[in-house]
Amino acid sequence: MRAGRFFNLLLSLVVTLSLPNCARTQNNSPAATANTRLVIRAARVLDARAGRVIEGASVVVEGDRVTAFGPNVPAPPGAKVIDLGDVTLMPGLIDAHTHITYHFDRTGRFGISWDSGPEEALGFAKENARATLLAGITTARDLGGDSGVVTRLRDQITRGETEGPRLVVSGEPLTAAAMRGAGEDRGERVRRVREFVRARIAEGVDVIKIFEGVDETGAPLFNTQEINAAVEEAARAGLRVAVHAHEAAAVKAAVRGGCTSVEHGSFLDDEAVRELAKRHVALVPTLYLPTHYLEHRERFVAFDPFTWSFFEKLQANNLANAARAKKGGVLIVSGSDAVAGLHGHNPREIIWLVKAGLTPAEALRAATVDAAALLGLEGKVGEIKPGAFADLVAVPGDPTKDINAVEHVVFVMKGGKVLRSDGPLKD
Ligand SMILES: [Zn+2]
Repeated sequence: MRAGRFFNLLLSLVVTLSLPNCARTQNNSPAATANTRLVIRAARVLDARAGRVIEGASVVVEGDRVTAFGPNVPAPPGAKVIDLGDVTLMPGLIDAHTHITYHFDRTGRFGISWDSGPEEALGFAKENARATLLAGITTARDLGGDSGVVTRLRDQITRGETEGPRLVVSGEPLTAAAMRGAGEDRGERVRRVREFVRARIAEGVDVIKIFEGVDETGAPLFNTQEINAAVEEAARAGLRVAVHAHEAAAVKAAVRGGCTSVEHGSFLDDEAVRELAKRHVALVPTLYLPTHYLEHRERFVAFDPFTWSFFEKLQANNLANAARAKKGGVLIVSGSDAVAGLHGHNPREIIWLVKAGLTPAEALRAATVDAAALLGLEGKVGEIKPGAFADLVAVPGDPTKDINAVEHVVFVMKGGKVLRSDGPLKD
C-alpha cells in the first residue's frame, strides 16, 4: 500500500521527530519539546465531538499541546510541516478498560506459570504498553492488576522513561474475597469496603474497580449501600468507581450505588437499561473479548469448562444486549478488556461497537470524547482542540465510512512526539 511513500515523505520532512529513539531522548528534555512547533496536515481530520470529518484541515502543535485546529489555520513562523497525505487524522484513541499487566507466560500460554516477581511483571507490562500505544491508544484506563506494578508503569510512562498510553489505573480490584468472614454483619461489611478503598488511595491509584456479581440466590455480592460506601470513600479523594457486573441484578445494585461506569453489563433487563440511562452511568460492554478468548482457546489453559461455556454465552448474546442498551439511551464507551494477546489490537473493540448498532461516528466518539469524559480527562484528551494534549493518530481511508480503518493505524503522536510513522500493523 502507501506505506513506503508515507514513510519517505515523513522522513524527508521530520527526520528526527519520526524516529522513536530521538523521541525518547527528547522526552527527557522539556526545553526541546517546548520549542517544537509543528503543523500537521491531512486530507481529512475527524471532529470526534461533531462526528464528522473536515476536509483538508491542519493541526498546529506547540510542545505537547494542540494550539490551533481548522481548515484555514496559518502555520506559525518557523513551524515544521508534516503533510500526512490521504489519511484521516483523529484524536488519539482511548481504551476505557484494559489489563495492561496481563500477558502470556514464557511458554506462550496463560495460567501455566507465574512471573518470578514484580520486575518480570513490569517488563511484560512495558511491552504491552508499547504495543497498545503503537496501535493508536494514547490513553487507557487499566481496571485490575497488581497495584505496585501498574502504578510504576504509569509513573515511568509519565516521566518519559518508557513508552505507553497515559494511564488511569485501579490497581487491585475489590472482590467478594474481601468480605470473607464478615457474614451478614452490615456494619462490618461497609467498614471493610471503606478500608479497601482507602488502601488503594494510599497506593496512589486513580480509579476504584469493584467486581460485582450475584450469589447462588441471585442477590448482588455487594449491595447498593456497600457500593455507595465505596463511591463515597473514593469521592473524598476525587476518584470514581468502575464496577464489573454481568447480571441485571448486579448492574442495578452498582448503578443505584452511584458508580460511574458498568463494565460488561452483559445480561441487562429493561429496568437495568432504564437505570443506566436515567443516572447517566456509562456502559463499557467489552464486546470483542469473548471472541478473543474463544479464538485462542489453546493458549488460555487455566480456564475450566464452565468458563468456556460462559464465554460462548457472552459471545452469542453481547451484541444484541449492547444494541438494546443503545436503543434505551445508555451512553456506551469503548473498552477492549485487553488481556494477554489483545494488547495492540485494542481498536478492534470500536469495530465491534459498530456491529452492535453504533454508527461509525458514534463508535469513534465512544473511543475519544465520551471515553475522555468517563476518565475525567475531558478537554485534555479525546479531542483535537486548543489546549488538549497533542495526541493524534492517522488511519487510511475514512473511518466514519468504513470503521475497519481503525485497525490500520499508520501514524501515532503522543504529547507532540511522533511514535509511529510507518505502515499498518502486521498481524
Ligand atoms: Zn476486565
